[in-house]
Amino acid sequence: MSQNDMPSTSNNSFLSVSEVQKRIINNTQAVNGTEQINLRQALGRVLANDIFATFNTPPCDNSGMDGYAFSSKEINTDTGNQSTLTLKIAGQSFAGHPYSGKITAGEAIRIMTGAQVPVGVDTVVIQEHTEKQDDETVTITTIPKPFANVRKAGDDLTTGQKFLSKGKKLSPTDLAFLATQGIAEVKVSRKIRVAFFSTGDELRSIGEILGEGDIYDSNRYSLYGLLKNMDVEMIDMGVIPDDRQAIEGAFKTASALADAVITSGGVSVGEADFVKETLEKLGQINFWKISMKPGKPLAFGTLGNSLFFGLPGNPVAVIATFYQFVQPALKRMKGQDIVLPLVIKAKTTELLKKRPGRTDFQRGILEQSDSGELTVRNAGTQESHVLTAMSKANCFIVIPAQSGSIETGEMVDVQPFEGLMS
Ligand code: AMP
Ligand code: MG
Repeated sequence: MSQNDMPSTSNNSFLSVSEVQKRIINNTQAVNGTEQINLRQALGRVLANDIFATFNTPPCDNSGMDGYAFSSKEINTDTGNQSTLTLKIAGQSFAGHPYSGKITAGEAIRIMTGAQVPVGVDTVVIQEHTEKQDDETVTITTIPKPFANVRKAGDDLTTGQKFLSKGKKLSPTDLAFLATQGIAEVKVSRKIRVAFFSTGDELRSIGEILGEGDIYDSNRYSLYGLLKNMDVEMIDMGVIPDDRQAIEGAFKTASALADAVITSGGVSVGEADFVKETLEKLGQINFWKISMKPGKPLAFGTLGNSLFFGLPGNPVAVIATFYQFVQPALKRMKGQDIVLPLVIKAKTTELLKKRPGRTDFQRGILEQSDSGELTVRNAGTQESHVLTAMSKANCFIVIPAQSGSIETGEMVDVQPFEGLMS
């Protein structure tokens, strides 16, 4: 990464959220390395190459309904006054048990959903529109349009068609899609390795006793959860005290082990200067002030061969900055094509207080009214050390930097968490 690509900021200038996202994404590449894995293991993984159909799916014309298959030539399309049609039942085609005989004029065959449509017929009438006269004869009482209720071979995929692209994160549907082609294994990007630790003399790990002024380290748990949802290999390095040697050692170990290193705490103004000093010595790190709340300080750059994210210490700021900056970058490292958080509009059902200045990521509760309208309200106290509202929230309400308070009834941007924190 050249310094020209990522200019440092002077002490007083703030960068916008989108500018920082752009810089981070532009300086992040997909990791090298792939693995061949079986279909079930591939759920949630990112495809390393395009996938092509080797045969048509469905492989043959088949019936979309239970009924009788017959030739469209039996339908008198010229006069349109044909009210019924009586045909001889020549045989049957059930799913997995096709009809192999010949069909001649005046004949139909009994057919079931998914059963192969035999040569010589091309139209299916649903059984509700027929009356069976006896075992050998059926009368069609409502004549269908020619070619009705037949699913054509290749309706879904045709031989040679590209149906999944490199960079696609494989969904449950994609596993089914691959299965229709009989594909047992796929090549995916290797899992990325992410090391993380917390910094701060006041931090204790669970199981330790809190001394005067101490708090438990909670950031490693939110990071664990966020990273777990991203299906990465995690290296949890614990709590590192505000000590020059310990910090330097942890940075070196982390960067040797991982593709990305994430820390929390120690990047705000007034922090012990050796954090910055150490990072500057070991890598190419930018210290940015971002025009966002919660958030603001963020360190980003390279540490050895790994990408480094120094997140702020406040628990809500960790989650907000992870969601806006780290998650998109990790998706890109995984080779994934869609990276930025989804933004939708919802109507606020209450006043959302804000002062113009920074982009707010307020903790919100997104709901759907009885009429189907999306509404959003405040999840509680909006302070960056308060997890209560973050825990209740199911979305961030994103209020632009220059905006003041938002009145009840106005539309706002919302980033939903459900199903999307991945
Ligand atoms: P810092 O960025 O180190 O100045 O930390 C900002 C605030 O976040 C301080 O109140 C810290 O005590 C708190 N903090 C930092 N790291 C953690 C952590 N891992 N878990 C909980 N709180 C933290
Ligand atoms: Mg600290």
